Amino acid sequence: MRVPGRNRDAGALVVHGHLDVVPADPEAWSVDPFAGVIKDGLLWGRGAVDMKNMDAMILAALGDILGAGDAPARDLVVAFFADEEAGGVLGSHHLVDTRPGLFAGATEAISEVGGYSITLGGQRAYLLQTGEKALIWIKLVARGDAAHGSRLIRNNAVTKLATAVAAIGSQDWPIRLTGTTTQPARRDRPDPRR
Ligand SMILES: [Zn+2]
Repeated sequence: MRVPGRNRDAGALVVHGHLDVVPADPEAWSVDPFAGVIKDGLLWGRGAVDMKNMDAMILAALGDILGAGDAPARDLVVAFFADEEAGGVLGSHHLVDTRPGLFAGATEAISEVGGYSITLGGQRAYLLQTGEKALIWIKLVARGDAAHGSRLIRNNAVTKLATAVAAIGSQDWPIRLTGTTTQPARRDRPDPRR
């Protein structure tokens, strides 16, 4: 949904959330995960934190703005996606690939996990973090002879892949420490490891 802003010339802001949730095993919960229990002044239920809380806040804030006869400062594209917990291929990826016009003119996007706050010296603090490590995606391609599973085929692509994965796993990779990981802990702030 696109909400016209007061300044139509500014780039649109995408405010988005996801509606899908991770599976819940009722056995592992102290309350019924599907009941929406209010306990100790909190709402407990599957997806209450990730992220129907923010979905509700987006709608409530937008309702307040529009209900007051006002408009957001700039165009808003308000989007609620599916499939985030499984990689977003059928959710945000799908919409960006097949309906790019929905996001036309958007220059920024915000959603969940903008940051967590902690209490530090009696004050609420929002921490910034610099990168500690990265990951590398490797695509392995193996070729072999296609045949029925009942036949013994030495030139087997699956075996080759398994051998390659095992070799990568047992390899001693060089460790290169970044500035973030080598910086000594400062004494004037609490060490979270203690
Ligand atoms: Zn989430």
